[in-house]
Amino acid sequence: ESLKRIEEVDGQVRAFLSIDAEGARKRANKLDQELKEGKSSGLLTAIPVGLKDNLSTEGMTTTCGSQLLANYQPIYNATVVEKLSAVQTISIGKTNMDEFAMGSSNENSGFYPTHNPWDLERVPGGSSGGSAAAVAAGEVYFSLGSDTGGSIRQPASFCGVVGLKPTYGRVSRYGLVAFASSLDQIGPLTKNVEDAAYVLQAISGYDPKDSTSANVEVPDFLSHLTGDIKGLKVAVPKEMLGEGIDPGIREQVKRALAKLEDLGAFIEEVSLPHVDYAVATYYLIAPAEASSNLARYDGVRYGMRKEGRNLLDLYLETRSQGFGSEVKRRIMLGTYALSSGYYDAYYLKAQKVRTLIRNDFEQVFANYDVIVGPTAPTIAFKMGENIDNPLTMYLNDILTIPVNLAGLPSISIPCGLSEGMPVGLQIIGRAFDEATVLRVAHAFE
Ligand code: GLN
Repeated sequence: ESLKRIEEVDGQVRAFLSIDAEGARKRANKLDQELKEGKSSGLLTAIPVGLKDNLSTEGMTTTCGSQLLANYQPIYNATVVEKLSAVQTISIGKTNMDEFAMGSSNENSGFYPTHNPWDLERVPGGSSGGSAAAVAAGEVYFSLGSDTGGSIRQPASFCGVVGLKPTYGRVSRYGLVAFASSLDQIGPLTKNVEDAAYVLQAISGYDPKDSTSANVEVPDFLSHLTGDIKGLKVAVPKEMLGEGIDPGIREQVKRALAKLEDLGAFIEEVSLPHVDYAVATYYLIAPAEASSNLARYDGVRYGMRKEGRNLLDLYLETRSQGFGSEVKRRIMLGTYALSSGYYDAYYLKAQKVRTLIRNDFEQVFANYDVIVGPTAPTIAFKMGENIDNPLTMYLNDILTIPVNLAGLPSISIPCGLSEGMPVGLQIIGRAFDEATVLRVAHAFE
């Protein structure tokens, strides 16, 4: 059914970069055989899955949306891929993304842009736009994405699906191609909150292969989906509903808050005074880490190699031809911010502001259970609308970036329509308290 649906719609949506029809069929038949032989099954058995193309899949091309890795086949699986395999899902293929996860619209894919299934003229969001569109178009039941500054939640919001960014350290990053290692997290994109809980359960947990993986207990997320949020304390940051947020979004979020109140939650306005600096902070830290992480694509170790007269020339040719313009912009920004003489003024300063932002959240969470607001300031924009203006593109992540800087868990769930397009409600929780985030989202749904 999944392959049939892809056949029907993916020519237009273009959510996938590669589809492993043969592998998927083989796996389905094998699972079928095993079940007949009495092997136990679970809730995710034989469920078709899409994987963002920055998740390493053994023997299966993993491009990261980049021409530089167009033919790269990893020799091992990411931990999340192994974990999904252990619960018997079927990988259908790899989903489209902005090159190296840098972008908010999928227009930075080195191959072709993905279209929003709700309106093919509009972007699906990014960078996990392929993963969100694949679920929204019914091509797979769920997918995995990665979120460095909003890349799971913003596309979920644009495509009317559920997207969850877990706490930093909850899910192993082993085998996720690194963009900004101190911010990256893998998470699910699903049709509803219950599915998000199932998938999170399957992919969570300590992994010695990832030094930032947290050795903390993984609760039974499902048992928290009680539907009861009476007495829950909800904080609404005034910075998240003010200037720059589309009136249509504000209206839907206000309606959502009223619904939470009807369900018995206390709603109060709070302030996160330093979030105004979050985008500036992020665009120093993320490019700085990216410039270091992407140094490995030198034409020798991975993917594309362009010949040169000497070694330096080989590096230069490979990187000049292999990387797209946004990736080059980030490498230049990051290299500049890390260079001697500028390090203290930019990178170190950004790290200090990051701490202030984290402290803002901590103070609010001393008195409240969750923070609620919109996921993105706009609905899905038209393709081409923001492509020539990186700054407006960057500002689309203004509401999601602070959460990555603080390392917190956050979900985006559909909360209505504006101009016929989906609007996302963002629910942010305390570190490692995905259970409460899911409980609120599920009660709202
Ligand atoms: N859009 C943001 C960026 O371009 C966030 C991307 C992400 O979360 N991977 O950096």
